[in-house]
Amino acid sequence: MKEKILALLGFPPPTPLIKTYTPWKDGTQKVENALIVDCRDVKNEADLKVVFNQLQEGVKSIKSNGKVLIYSFQPELIEDSAHSTFQRSLEGISRSLAKELGGRGTTVNLVKIASDLDLTDYQVTEDFFTSGRSAFITGQALIANDEIPRPGDLSDKICVVTGGAGGIGSATVQRLAAEGATVIIADIPQMDERAKPLLSDKVSFMGADLTNETARKQLLNDIKEKHGRIDVLINNAGITRDKTLKNMPEHYWDQVIAINLTAVIALTEEALEMGLIPDGGRIIGTSSISGIAGNFGQTNYTATKAALIGYAASKSKELKTKGITINAIAPGYIETEMVKTMPLMTRIFAERLTSLAQAGKPEDIAEAMAFLAHPGAQNINGQVLRVCGGSFLGA
Ligand code: NAD
Repeated sequence: MKEKILALLGFPPPTPLIKTYTPWKDGTQKVENALIVDCRDVKNEADLKVVFNQLQEGVKSIKSNGKVLIYSFQPELIEDSAHSTFQRSLEGISRSLAKELGGRGTTVNLVKIASDLDLTDYQVTEDFFTSGRSAFITGQALIANDEIPRPGDLSDKICVVTGGAGGIGSATVQRLAAEGATVIIADIPQMDERAKPLLSDKVSFMGADLTNETARKQLLNDIKEKHGRIDVLINNAGITRDKTLKNMPEHYWDQVIAINLTAVIALTEEALEMGLIPDGGRIIGTSSISGIAGNFGQTNYTATKAALIGYAASKSKELKTKGITINAIAPGYIETEMVKTMPLMTRIFAERLTSLAQAGKPEDIAEAMAFLAHPGAQNINGQVLRVCGGSFLGA
């Protein structure tokens, strides 16, 4: 009976409503209770009611740590006003449902796709959002454009991770290496000891203070000589020097701008100018949710982290013509050495102020890096992906 009503409404979703996730390569991240709802045809109240019914039915069968992925079209690309309006309503649903289900570890995300591609063109994105790899991402609405995904995987890629010996950096290096990629850790020379456990025949360390132009150029020349190209450039190196603006010493301001912003843009532009980043290349910046929401005592840091979102958005237009994508990841509260200097109460609050009520791990950011670096993520460009457990800050 229910199926007949759905058919009358012309709304059986093109993809099966409940799908068993096909495990990621190593099979360790298997999530069996993923719910995928294709809402691209929702154009009126009746369609929306069906979504309500389907979600209500679907979430009942989702166990803890489940995954809900909703597909919509990008509302701003739809000419029909009613269709566009109801597509936008899905953003409200997914963000609220993320808050409701977060306590059970279940994530809810929306992928807003371009109108003229098939869902199979977003398979890499779907695999990511329906697997444990995206465990710390919830309440997000990611825009995916109409670029055809590139075939292949990360095994033949040359990846550079700046600050690769640090907390998030080392997890990212390990994640990419696990995919079989060749990885270069670009960090300050003093970090060579910290990097040692990460080294292998495919992972190497190149010491460079990225604020120093000569060191930067030497690094790029060495990479050119040894590897010939950079398929994936992950700009992860960054520091904090917190003080309220009124009391901030000038050198705090200068250091943060120099490392987190000026060096990032200089390294990226120099690599592009040298022709090191080929077609299909990936550039990923490490922003922060405080670059979106602002944060007490961090005017210097948030200036840089907001700027990296702007850099990805503006630069993506130019790089699209070269087949290169540039995106930013905005981590929320991630347990690394960097945050251990924060007062305990601030850290407890940071955890509680998320839908998932917990802190993230460097591995959560590493997974997001590997996702955006993947050839199949060609249609994600100029975006900022928040990996923040559904933080209430700047939501
Ligand atoms: P971390 O301090 O563990 O690592 C930062 C790395 O950058 C270190 O290895 C350091 O040596 C390197 N670095 C610093 N200055 C450099 C320079 N001049 N040249 C080359 N390398 C340099 O910090 P993390 O927590 O792993 O943070 C990594 C990135 O993630 C940073 O950009 C940070 O702003 C961002 N982030 C972190 C969090 C979090 O909660 N940890 C949240 C949001 C954003």
